[in-house]
Amino acid sequence: MPIDPSTLRPATRLVQGGVQRTAHGETAEALFLTSGYVYDDAEQAEATFNGTVEHYQYSRFANPTLTMLEERLCLIEGAEACRTTATGMAAVNAALLSHLKAGDRVVASRALFGSCHWIVSTLLPKFGIESVFVDGADLTQWRDALREPTNLVLLETPSNPMLEIVDLPAVAAMAHAAGAIVVVDNVFATPLLQQPLTMGADVVVYSCTKHIDGQGRVLGGAILAARKWVTDVLQPFIRNTGPTMSAFNAWVLLKGLETLSLRVDAGCRAAEAIAEFLAGHSGVTRVWYPTRADHPQRDLAMKQMSAGGTVVTFEVAGGKAGAFQAMNAFQLIAVSNNLGDSKSLVTHPATTTHMRIGEAERAKLGISDGVIRLSVGLEDPEDIKDDLARGLAAVSPVQGHSRAV
Ligand SMILES: *Cc1c(COP(=O)(O)O)cnc(C)c1O
Repeated sequence: MPIDPSTLRPATRLVQGGVQRTAHGETAEALFLTSGYVYDDAEQAEATFNGTVEHYQYSRFANPTLTMLEERLCLIEGAEACRTTATGMAAVNAALLSHLKAGDRVVASRALFGSCHWIVSTLLPKFGIESVFVDGADLTQWRDALREPTNLVLLETPSNPMLEIVDLPAVAAMAHAAGAIVVVDNVFATPLLQQPLTMGADVVVYSCTKHIDGQGRVLGGAILAARKWVTDVLQPFIRNTGPTMSAFNAWVLLKGLETLSLRVDAGCRAAEAIAEFLAGHSGVTRVWYPTRADHPQRDLAMKQMSAGGTVVTFEVAGGKAGAFQAMNAFQLIAVSNNLGDSKSLVTHPATTTHMRIGEAERAKLGISDGVIRLSVGLEDPEDIKDDLARGLAAVSPVQGHSRAV
């Protein structure tokens, strides 16, 4: 009798959840690099297609390695069903386009990952879907926007890169009253630090590219929700449009999950210490980290999340020039727009990830030219601090101090 996985604790689920062994009894998850499947006979093929028998049909629809990853993700998230996709953006796109139709209305927090912002602001209106942006931290704006009937709410908390927190239970209640489903992009929190489904969300999406792989190797996405929505709404979209993840990437991600809790725990501890170090440095004008006493939404962050995450955002004096001087002087921390990697990475959002949204929108989000986003890796935190000190020492002193955008 196999053990009931729902009785297992989270760290155990990360290692053993969803494992399906073949007749060979392999220890590690098998990698099924197959596009199709064969049937015993024509009758079995018929029964599979008319739904009376369960059998894999074609890897665009389902694949055993993906099934193992999806079941493991369900166990960690506490979700009924999961579908994986080739990238995080394919997951966001599938969640939105499978649910919406012309004439619908979407309300989203403004502080979204760049491509998510593009889907809501540019793609959806092309298909006759109205989109409205609000300041995610301002419940009055959510209330005003959700006075009108709405079909879907999309938000990210903590947000990229300013680590703004959205009050999940409050927004979910208003969204449901307006008739909307709530889709939460939970990348920054990871499934270990925050469980949106327990706070009113209907759908959770991930870029598995980030902490779930966590070692900068493969792209991937995941969508988790109630079984009925996944079966009736999402699965036909995925089956027929093909944003499917490769089995190889699913296999790599299964390996990533085995160490997720070790990596996220270490990353959060290091990030907290590094935020404290940066806050005490004279070259830093401000630090954002969700669970710090100086974060404007600290209480909310502590209520929704069990730790602050692995990203620290900070501002250096001297605007873009100051930020570039610091980043170019780092020897250990690499300049890269990725995050959630075991290697520490820094980004200058104003000239990269958030360049396209324009200066006015950046100002609304608080992304000044001196802002740097640091994704804390698994190096010794003392070495990361030494490198930060090296970078900050390279910033030339400015007259007065500039926080202007
Ligand atoms: C990276 C990221 C995405 C997109 O994921 P990809 O795997 O790069 O397609 C979406 N949302 C957030 C918050 C992200 O960090």
